[in-house]
This record gives sequence, C-alpha cells and structure tokens, in this order.
Amino acid sequence: MTLGDPWHSLVAALPQPTWLVELPGRAVVAANAPALALLGLPADTLIGHPADHLIATPEDLAYWDEVTAGHAGRLRSDTVVCTADGRTVHVDRSIEPVTPPGAAAPTHCVVMLIDRSSAQQAENAREELLAELQATLESTADGILVTDLNGRVRAFNRRFAQVWGIPEDLVQERNDSAVHEWMKKSVVDPDAYERRLAAMHQATLLATSERLQLHSGQVLERVTRPLWVRGRPNGRVYSFRDLTERLAADQRIEELAHTDVLTGLPNRRMLADRVAQSAQRSRREGLPFALLVVDLDRFGQVNDSLGHEIGDRVLLEVAQRIQGCMRANDVLARVGGDQFALLVHDADGNAAEATARRVLSVVALPCSIEGAQFTITCSIGAALCPQHGQSLDDLVRHAEAAMRAVKSAGRGHFRFHQQPSARGATDLKAHMRLDHAMRQALVSGRFRLHYQPQVRMSDGRLVGAEALIRWRDPELGEVPPGRFIPVAEDSGFIVAIGDWVLSQAVRQGALWHESGHAVPIAVNVSALQFQQTHFVDRVASVLAVSALPPHLLELELTESILVRDADEALARLHALARLGVSLSIDDFGTGYSSLAYLKRFPIGKLKIDRSFVQGLPGDESDAGIVRAILQMARALDMRVIAEGVETEVQREFLEAAGCDEFQGFLYAPALDALSFERHLHRQPSELPPPLPAPLAAPHIRLVR
Ligand code: C2E
Ligand code: MG
Ligand code: MG
Repeated sequence: MTLGDPWHSLVAALPQPTWLVELPGRAVVAANAPALALLGLPADTLIGHPADHLIATPEDLAYWDEVTAGHAGRLRSDTVVCTADGRTVHVDRSIEPVTPPGAAAPTHCVVMLIDRSSAQQAENAREELLAELQATLESTADGILVTDLNGRVRAFNRRFAQVWGIPEDLVQERNDSAVHEWMKKSVVDPDAYERRLAAMHQATLLATSERLQLHSGQVLERVTRPLWVRGRPNGRVYSFRDLTERLAADQRIEELAHTDVLTGLPNRRMLADRVAQSAQRSRREGLPFALLVVDLDRFGQVNDSLGHEIGDRVLLEVAQRIQGCMRANDVLARVGGDQFALLVHDADGNAAEATARRVLSVVALPCSIEGAQFTITCSIGAALCPQHGQSLDDLVRHAEAAMRAVKSAGRGHFRFHQQPSARGATDLKAHMRLDHAMRQALVSGRFRLHYQPQVRMSDGRLVGAEALIRWRDPELGEVPPGRFIPVAEDSGFIVAIGDWVLSQAVRQGALWHESGHAVPIAVNVSALQFQQTHFVDRVASVLAVSALPPHLLELELTESILVRDADEALARLHALARLGVSLSIDDFGTGYSSLAYLKRFPIGKLKIDRSFVQGLPGDESDAGIVRAILQMARALDMRVIAEGVETEVQREFLEAAGCDEFQGFLYAPALDALSFERHLHRQPSELPPPLPAPLAAPHIRLVR
C-alpha cells in the first residue's frame, strides 16, 4: 500500500524537521525542507535514504530492526543527529508508525525531530553560571545565606555555617527550621532577632545592615538585600561578616592611642583631653585644678644597674603607689620614660601640696623587687589652673620647670611654678658662661691641684693624697669643683680637664717620689673619661713620661663606670691593673653596684662616701651602712678609706669598726703642693702594702 500525495503535502507543511519512511524497506519516501536544513543536505537527497543511516544510535538501530521484524511501535527520546558537515545536534526525536485506513499493519513511519540545540546551550550556560556562583559564594570571607520569601533555605556557603558555628550534620540535613533555631539561640537577644526577621518577611524590599551579638562573644554584621527574579522580589540574601577580631583590633588601637603600654595608664594625649575638659569646667564653674609632674630621681641608675626589666617593674610599682594615694576621679598619666603627671580636680594650692606630699612619701617607701632592695625618690613640680595657665602645654611646661628646679636643688621634693622671672634662661646662660670660662681656664693655666692627705687609722701616718682640682677665675672668683665638674661632664670637656689632672698629678707624684717620698696619688676619673678608647694607653704614657712607679698612682672610679657596659669596663680595668695601677671606688654606697659586680673587678679599695660618715656615730642607719661596707670589704679583701671625717668621734667609730684609712678636715683639707710637702716632711712616708687580689664574696646589697 502506498501513501498518496496528501501525505507528502502534509509532511512538507509541518514546521518541524520530518520525514516519512516506507516499511518494511526503511527508505525515506518524503522529507520536508526543515529536515534537509537540519541535516544539512541538498533538496531531495533524502529520498531513498535508509532511515537507520540518518540517525544511527544503538536505540534507533534496535528500533528499526524491531520494525523490520513486524513490531512497529512508537519511539520518543532525546538523541543526537550527525549533520552532513559533521556537527552533532541535540534533538527530541519521535517515530510514529502510520497505518492507512483498511490496512492491517503500519505501512510507514513518520520521523519527527525537535531541534533542542539552543535549549541545550541554555542548559549548559546555566550550569556554568551555577558553578561560577557556587565558587564565588565559597570564596567570599562572609557567610552567605539565600532564602525564599518564606524563609526556606535555598543556598548557603560553608563560611555561613562556620561563622554561626552550625554543626555539620544540621547543615548536611538541610533542616531549615533547625538551622533557624540554631541562629536564634546563638544571639544574645533572641526576641529582638525574631522581631527583625519578622519585619524583613513583612517588608520584602527591605535592605538592612545591622550587628548581632552572639553568646560566644562574636559580633556579626548582618547585611540583607532582597533577591530579585524577573523584576520581582523572590527571596532574600543575607551576608554575615564576623567583626569580632576587627572590633577587638580597633579597640586595642583606640586604647593604645590613649594609654601607655607598660602601665596601662592614660598617656599624654588622653591627659590633654582631660585637662581640656577640666579647663573648660574651670572657666564655666570657676573651679581650680592642679597639674603635678612627677619625675623619678636617678631612675637611669636603676635601669643601668638592675636592668630594664626591673626598671619596668619599678615604674609599675610607682604607678600603683601613686594611684593608691589619689582620689578616684583624679587622673594619673604616664607622660615620659620615668615621668608621670597627675591631674588633681578641684584643687587649690593647699590641696595640690597635700597631694604632692602624699606622692612623695608613698614613692619613697622601700622597694623590694626580685631580691633587690632600694629606695626611689621623686621630684614634683606643680602648676595651678587658672593662675599658671589654662592649656596642657602651659601647665606641663610650668610644672616641668618647677620639677627641674626641684632636681637641681637636690631632688626628692616638690615645688610650685614660680611666676616668670626668666630664671630658666638665666640658668642656661650661666651654664654656657661657665663652660666657656672653663675652656679659657684650661688654656690659660688657671687650674691647680690640691692634695688632701689620706691617713692610716692605726698610727695616724700619712699614706696617700687625693688630687682635687681647684679653679680661681678672674671674673667668677673661686669656683668649687662641685659646680663646674658637672657642667664639664655635661659638655664632654671633662675629658680634657681629666687628662690635665692626670698628667699634673702624676708629675707631682714623680717629683715627691724622686725626693724620697713614695706617696701614692689618687686621681678622680669621670665616667666619660674612663670610656675614652685610648684611656688605658694614655695612663700608660703619662706614667712612662714622668717615670712614676705605677703602684703610686690610684684611679678613683665611680660605681656608674662598673654598672654601665660591665664587660667592657671589666676588660679596661684588667688592662689598668696589668699596668700596675691601683683602683678604688669613690663615693661608695651612693650608687647601685652590688657585691656580685664588685667581686668581678680588680678593685683594691673602697671609699666610703662622706654622706655616710656625716651622721656617725649617732645615726643608726649610717652606722649600719658603714659597718656593712666594712664587713663586705673584709670579705672581698679590700681596703676601706672613709671620706669627710671631720670629728674625732667619727674617726674613733670608724677605727673601732675596722676602717683602714680616712681623709677629712679632721686631719687636713686639700692642700696646695707646698703645704702638703710640709706634712710629708713631718713624718717619714711609707709605701702601703701591695694590694691583694679581690676574693669571692657573699651577695649583700646596701640599702639606704
Ligand atoms: P670627691 O672625689 O668625693 O672628693 C672629696 C670631696 O670632699 C672634695 O671636695 C673634698 O674637698 C671634700 N672633703 C674632703 N674632706 C672633707 C671633710 O672633712 N668635710 C667636707 N665637708 N668635705 C670634705 P671638692 O674638692 O669640692 O670636690 C668635689 C668633687 O668634685 C669630688 O668629690 C670629685 O667628685 C670632683 N672632683 C674634684 N676634683 C676632680 C678631678 O680632678 N676630676 C674629677 N673627675 N672630679 C673631680
Ligand atoms: Mg674622689
Ligand atoms: Mg668621694
């Protein structure tokens, strides 16, 4: 049976690629233009083509075999078609058997295709987009949650679960209500959280940004936007950013900007704010206030001798002590290394003085840190608002000037700002004039040396001389070394002065030695002079030039030499000892050197500072210190000389306590060379016994 023309016309009229296959031969008998276009074949080339060659997938081949065997059924599935130019096209292909009226079995099959290639492309593009979206979601540092309008979870990234600490299984299960419950339970204020969510459900267009505080201490920033699909809100995107670390860092930065790291006290900046507030209040309400600048005395020595760690502990301790004696609303700030400032509210002169006195006394209480016992004092300068100024700058400047005045007057006290008298400027000028005059004095030969006899306790014999510099200036008159030596130490000119003293004293010693008086000469050496690279060479050459036996030269060093750069000092001291020169420690007891230090150094003699001798024998503290020094020196096998002995009772006490020698007005002040010689001639001089090497000693520290 054949199909007539209407069938062909029908096929030709269909919009989808279609062809008609005759059975059982399987040859194509009609095909429309869309079919030729899809397959890329010229017109009429399809007619007579075997149907199973056009689409040759195993499914199609099996179908045609069935059809040939007389089982023509239907087939519809997605498949691919190869075109004439070798492309593959995704199609929805259906084959339908056709049984003409009156026929017992199908005589033809209609093959119809729907081109799905553009749908497939769209699918592929969508998959790609999804993959990109997922990767983007996962790569953001924020937790992302996407819900539909009813709050059902549509998507989220792993970070979302991490930020909220949602357990893995809850996430895996995609149990929406459990996830929402978890979030609600995690926030500190679940009611407010719920209310906000409800508001967001109501107002689908709402875009918000707010912070959530969690029980875990975390702070999350929640930003939400409506999710738009085809111009309509379709859900909501939430992003959660963990702000905890950033907020903590911000807070720390804020703290650091306003507080001192070591003590945690307000710093200068915060103090400036507080002073500005107080100044405003003072203007408004007429309430005065005071600013005290508290500076620790000789704090550098604590650092140098006990180390910076202990130094820091001392600062902390001092801060606590001051805080302990001030009112809660007053402000203590650390404004410099060893400088504090105290803002005392509602304080007139009397209240400021009372506070200063309390601070002086609590700071001066003994310190005991890691076995080291010592006392720290402080100097305080005070300025009052409004009398002395209104701004922090003015108040601090005035309080600091007052504090410096306390320092130069001997430290450990307090003073108010003095109304301007150009005093500071005068001080500076005087300082400069002195420095200039000193330099002139050296070139003009105006310095002289005096020699103070040193006497042996046991027999009153003269056993040495300390060379002390003297200076009479034509304009300034007699200038005591206590005035100009510190200025020379400040400017560095002490190196030149010290060198002059050394050569002069050694020359004098050599003259006396030549005339039969082997009298040891003690020369004071400043720290700066000792630290000069060629100091040891210089001593050697001075000795060589004047031919003074080295053991007749004694160098008086200060404790600060030993504690600063101890290793280098040790090497230098050994080099001096090798020259045969004697070494002593001047003003012993006023510094911070410890036994541990002393026993390392080749020191033969300690000189007890005048300040400890003064109070003898009545002052128990002085007596105790002197006894301790003597015991310690005995243990170290060192000799001891007491300085500044003015009375017989002092001498007797010292002799009884075992002191070897003394110098002081009791015997004689420092004398010019001729007067000293007269003392020499009165008695045969005698060499002191050779100095033994120092021994190991117990660890004792001196407390004053
Ligand atoms: P110093 O080395 O401790 O010298 C002892 C000081 O005590 C001397 O003061 C001396 O005159 C004084 N003195 C001695 N016996 C008595 C006494 O019984 N009572 C009293 N009140 N004082 C007594 P001077 O000569 O005024 O020297 C003061 C300081 O100046 C010295 O203290 C020393 O540190 C320094 N100095 C003096 N000459 C030199 C020098 O040539 N070089 C260096 N670097 N410093 C020197
Ligand atoms: Mg001395
Ligand atoms: Mg001395």
